[in-house]
Amino acid sequence: MKLTFNGAAGMVTGSCYLLEAANERILVDCGMFQGPKEITRLNYEPFRFDPKKISCLLLTHAHIDHSGLIPKLVRNGFRGKIIATAPTVDLSRIMLEDSANVNRWDTEYENKRRLRMGLAPRKPLYELADVKMAMKLFSKVEYGTPCKVADSIGATFHPAGHILGASIIELNVKEGGKEKKIVFSGDLGQWDNPLVGSPTVIESADYVLVESTYGNRPHESTRMSERLFAKEVMGTFGRGGILMIPSFAVERAQELLYYLHRMERDKVLPGEMVFLDSPLAIAATRVFNEHAGQFVPGIQKEFREPFAFRKLKFLESAEESMAINGYKKPCIIIAGSGMCTAGRIRHHLKHHLWNPKNTLLFVGYQAEGTLGRVILEGAKSVRMMGIEVAVKARVRKIDSFSSHADATGLVEWVRGFKVKPEKVFIVHGETDSALGLETELNKLGFDTHVAKLGESVEL
Ligand SMILES: [Zn+2]
Repeated sequence: MKLTFNGAAGMVTGSCYLLEAANERILVDCGMFQGPKEITRLNYEPFRFDPKKISCLLLTHAHIDHSGLIPKLVRNGFRGKIIATAPTVDLSRIMLEDSANVNRWDTEYENKRRLRMGLAPRKPLYELADVKMAMKLFSKVEYGTPCKVADSIGATFHPAGHILGASIIELNVKEGGKEKKIVFSGDLGQWDNPLVGSPTVIESADYVLVESTYGNRPHESTRMSERLFAKEVMGTFGRGGILMIPSFAVERAQELLYYLHRMERDKVLPGEMVFLDSPLAIAATRVFNEHAGQFVPGIQKEFREPFAFRKLKFLESAEESMAINGYKKPCIIIAGSGMCTAGRIRHHLKHHLWNPKNTLLFVGYQAEGTLGRVILEGAKSVRMMGIEVAVKARVRKIDSFSSHADATGLVEWVRGFKVKPEKVFIVHGETDSALGLETELNKLGFDTHVAKLGESVEL
């Protein structure tokens, strides 16, 4: 049995693992490489395996760094089954369509540059037709119900916390008269997340792959997020201002809507309106409402539709988005992109960032070099959309919002294996994070290996 790390090794994106066992080739995830150019260029390299020879793809969750190269896989001849939970299938559809559109725009932009430099144009990674074809290959699986992947291989999906539909995947492989169990953590959520609960503790495995995004550092508990968020809402409305929130479209936006829904129910939500100004976040919110039964049991008792309430208005078209530039009453605008690098948040910043009554609230990580990071680090003014805009609004960040387990949470999850696995492979983390987690796991007596990109190991 051979396992190859084709992505998310030494980095946090491009999740893709190939298992060759029992005369089958199985992939777990087929994610896009994201971040700086030296990483994203990997998306344009040929796969390190022949997509035509892959019999099945198991998808842990819909985030693009786990699913984003599926249409490229299909474009290159993959015709096997793709197995995922129902919410992951529905979220993948909207996210992959969005990804195809973004890639088309990026390619058009890049080709203008290439033309000027006398270089040959680049083809998009994939198009909407490839997404459509990929969606036909999906097959839905329930949590906790074993499914057949091949004659000698079975898989069981377990809740991973993280985001709606996210899974830990347990693979059982029979080969040469022996049975081995390999557990892929996928991305693990925080313990006790108010919407998706805790990651499932798995008690036995021969081999484990564990993510290490926050392998070397703690972060505040997600349980604090609601209180801190309410404080920012009240503070901004107390000054008669507008609260702008750049947000990721999936999970973070819905978590905010859930907290606002609770505030409206408790009659403590001041202000006129909450605008959700992102077509992708709107589509994701509809999927979240359709799968309300997948959240922790208390949520369904609380609300039939947790992410829909009276003051919430979806702004679908660009015209509707522009129209609220003239809206002067206190309100909340949740818009993409999460790091202010693109999207509708930019025109809201242009209109409202200069006004000290307003607040710009960050609820997610701001990477180096992004407009969000520049503002967060205290820029007095920023140049955007061709003009200089003074930063006079209050700039705040809530650190406790995170869909990932921190170092303590990751160690806790691995400690759940009652008998120590033969090997714990550490994946999906920058080098420092992976090594930090390795040190902690070694102290507890776990035999570990930090995976390298392209490396194969015999199991
Ligand atoms: Zn993820």
